[in-house]
This record gives sequence, C-alpha cells and structure tokens, in this order.
Amino acid sequence: MRQYILAEANWKTIRDIKYDLAILPWGATEAHNYHLPYSTDNIETVNISEDAAAIAWSRGAKVVVLPGISYGVNTGQPDVYMTMNMNPSTQFVILNDIIENLNRYGVQKLLIVNGHGGNDFKQSLRELGLKYPKMLLATCNWYQSIDKSKFFGQGGDHADEMETSIMLHLAPELVLPLSIAGEGKSKKFKVEALNKKWAWTERKWTKVSQDTGIGDPRGADAKKGEAYYEEVIETIGDLMADLAAADKDNMYD
Ligand SMILES: [Zn+2]
Repeated sequence: MRQYILAEANWKTIRDIKYDLAILPWGATEAHNYHLPYSTDNIETVNISEDAAAIAWSRGAKVVVLPGISYGVNTGQPDVYMTMNMNPSTQFVILNDIIENLNRYGVQKLLIVNGHGGNDFKQSLRELGLKYPKMLLATCNWYQSIDKSKFFGQGGDHADEMETSIMLHLAPELVLPLSIAGEGKSKKFKVEALNKKWAWTERKWTKVSQDTGIGDPRGADAKKGEAYYEEVIETIGDLMADLAAADKDNMYD
C-alpha cells in the first residue's frame, strides 16, 4: 500500500497526512499506429506519475497521485474508429471539480502530468487560478521533460520509436510485433508557417498519417525505453519535490 497513491490508500492511514501536492495524470484513448494499444498514453502517464511520485515521496515530499483521467482532446481524429474525444470544455468542468475538492481539503497545489499532445490545460488553469486564488496550479508534458534525441534515432510525436520503446519496457504483452507496425510517415503542411509552428491549425489526422502513427517505430526496443523512462521519472520526480517544497507566496527570485 503506497500512501502517495490515493487509489491504494485508506482513510485510516491518510487522514492524518497533510499532502502538499496533488498529481493528476491525464492521458487519452486513441489509436496508436497498428501495434500499440488505445490506452498507450494512459499506461505511460500513470506509470510515470506514480514512479516519479515515489522518488519525490522518498525525499520527504508529501505528494499524492490522484486517479488519472483516460480521455483526451481528440477533435482531429473523429474518423479514427473508437478514438474517444473529450472536449476541452468538458475537461475544464472536470478540472474545476477536482480543484474545488483539493481547495476544500487544504491541498493547495496541483500538478497535471499530461501525456497527450491534444490536451492543453494552460488556459483552464489561468481561469481556475482566478477562481481559486489560494491554489498553485501547474501542468507539465512529460514527453517534453528531457531531450529524447539522445535515446532514439527516429523522431516523431505519436506511436513513434520513443512511445513504442516505453511500451516495450512497461507493457510488452500489449505491443504487437513491430513487423506489423506502419512506418508512421506523415505529411507536412503546404503553408510553411504551420510547419514552423509559430502559426497553428489543427492537424486532420487521417490526412496527415495513413496508419495513425507519426514517427517510425521500427527501431524501438525495451532497453532504450527503460533508459529514457528512468531519466523522465527522475526529472518529473524533481519537479514534484520542488513544487511540494515551494512557498507559493514567494515563487520568484
Ligand atoms: Zn501517445
């Protein structure tokens, strides 16, 4: 029984613990090329959140991982069978309820650990920060926490070599043989500013990728996945410990 995982904890043990930081893993339920499961983002993000919290907890940080949210913003994939969109406005309402609970219990810091590119919580946290001024509200994308290029030969951002390697490390029984994986080829925008990313419009997924993947997964292996994963959980564990220790009324140097 891990006291820093709310789903495993019991009232007898935790009612006297004063948690400083709640952690909310947030993923998505979507197709991941041909070879990875729909819950890839959830498996990655919940494991990273829990293992990073273990690191922070072992250093004395009073953190608690909340049950994760398994539905993400997938507005660009309505034509990919059984990809389960949750609208940004719904996510806002869910976040509001979770923050309202934490605020009532005096757990005044929240970190969202996000694992899905379509999720973007910054605007919601700005608005909810006005509504709950005692709360410190933060979000991070674990997949941007370290430079993945030193671990993986092929880039990409969906069901790519990195994600496939992590899944081979965490849940190999759910990964189909790489011989059936698509190449993860993707098309670029004709409007160059959109490729440079200072201008933005949503990618219509099935017009960009044939197999739903973006990034060639075929060089993936569990060893690379483990090495990358270990550095990610150290980095996120540091962030959790730092946020738990931070004085939210004195955040700046
Ligand atoms: Zn993913």
